[in-house]
Amino acid sequence: MKNFNEMGLPKHLLTRLANMGLETPTPIQAQAVPHAMEGRDVMGLAQTGTGKTFAFGLPLVSAMLEFDGRPNPKTVTGLVLAPTRELAKQISDALRELVEGTPLKVGLVVGGAGINGQINRLARGMDILVATPGRLLDLMDRRAIDLRETEFLVLDEADQMLDMGFIHDLRKIAALIPNERQTMCFSATMAKQMAEIAKTYLKDPVRVEVSPPGKAADKVTQVVHFIAKAEKANLLIELLGEHPDEAALVFGRTKHGSEKLKRQLEQAGFAAASIHGNKSQGQRDKALAAFKSGEIKVLVATDVAARGLDIPLVRHVYNYDLPNVPDNYVHRIGRTARAGADGAAVAFCAPDEMDEFRAIQKVMGIKIPVASGREWEKHEEVKPVRGGGGGQGRGRGRGGKPGGVQGKPRAGKLGQGKPAGGQRRRNRRRGGKSGSRAA
Ligand code: UDP
Ligand code: MG
Repeated sequence: MKNFNEMGLPKHLLTRLANMGLETPTPIQAQAVPHAMEGRDVMGLAQTGTGKTFAFGLPLVSAMLEFDGRPNPKTVTGLVLAPTRELAKQISDALRELVEGTPLKVGLVVGGAGINGQINRLARGMDILVATPGRLLDLMDRRAIDLRETEFLVLDEADQMLDMGFIHDLRKIAALIPNERQTMCFSATMAKQMAEIAKTYLKDPVRVEVSPPGKAADKVTQVVHFIAKAEKANLLIELLGEHPDEAALVFGRTKHGSEKLKRQLEQAGFAAASIHGNKSQGQRDKALAAFKSGEIKVLVATDVAARGLDIPLVRHVYNYDLPNVPDNYVHRIGRTARAGADGAAVAFCAPDEMDEFRAIQKVMGIKIPVASGREWEKHEEVKPVRGGGGGQGRGRGRGGKPGGVQGKPRAGKLGQGKPAGGQRRRNRRRGGKSGSRAA
């Protein structure tokens, strides 16, 4: 499969793709789209930044284009679920680009935005709805949305949707969607969850894997600095100072810590902003927009920005604090080196982060090259002590220059209700099993 026009996509989509300058499918698109076009359930695994959005977006929009008329009030024909508001927005924007010039409607419902407008828009029915699970459930509770005519379900970042914060919501939502549907799941990581996802949500899925799970995008260079917690801010300021005009995304672990770091960076003269759960959605949107436009160069974020966001100019990702879920390392550094660009990922590892560091190296199956310091030894692995004032670890013995002195001893599906009547029909059957997966 070399070209989009060999995939049986409707003419409209080929025109849209051509207008976007896209001619050749990415590997995940080349492998997943034909199966999805046949109506198969698909589980797609491919590195970050390799075009998974259109791997499900193209077959989804193709299917929608085959329906006659408008969806019934409050119904949604194709539902896409994503773990964060920002990602849901990005996906809906990408799908809107695809449906431009057609009568199809792509809706977005996420938390942090007024619910009444969302209720009004849903009242007319949606061809495609992109949603975060929490808000969707809210709307379901208010009877603003009816999933009994939903025929397509997509889980982006599927493994995270199965994690603690989401699994209960997802179960409730999936239970209200007819079993007779097409389901697609995509992520860059889901090795462990694959079997469970397949068993619970998919029917006889085609598994499409483009790279080994956990593999970083090809063009990310990775290094680690072993550094005491108290010195991280200075090292970050120093490293950011080496490329002040390039966009850098800095990941912290906590909301409070990320906010404090953002202030430190501002004091050091950087145009910085932050995104985390303590910010209002308005503030989050503004920060992301300013970062995308280049108005600010440094965005400090918690893992709320780890997955899926596509910000083409991010050249540097700093893991200021290591993620406590090792898979999130793959996702965080996948915010750079997108669509074939290159990027640099720099990790800071304090003594109490050695467990996380080892878990990351294990998941990645690589040894991350050391830029400064050396791996902390057992007796140095100071675990954080609650209220224990002051520094842990000792100084790094660095000479102020990055990559400098090394190795100096440092100091330190249930109810399947009846369709709400008047169900629309597809005017054209696609090949394969589509539309005929009767239970
Ligand atoms: N992109 C591309 N070719 C395509 C579709 C997308 O080069 O056929 C670009 C897209 O504009 C985006 C980047 O690739 O900038 C990553 O796409 P996506 O977010 O879908 O990647 P994912 O991380 O989901 O695999
Ligand atoms: Mg994605």
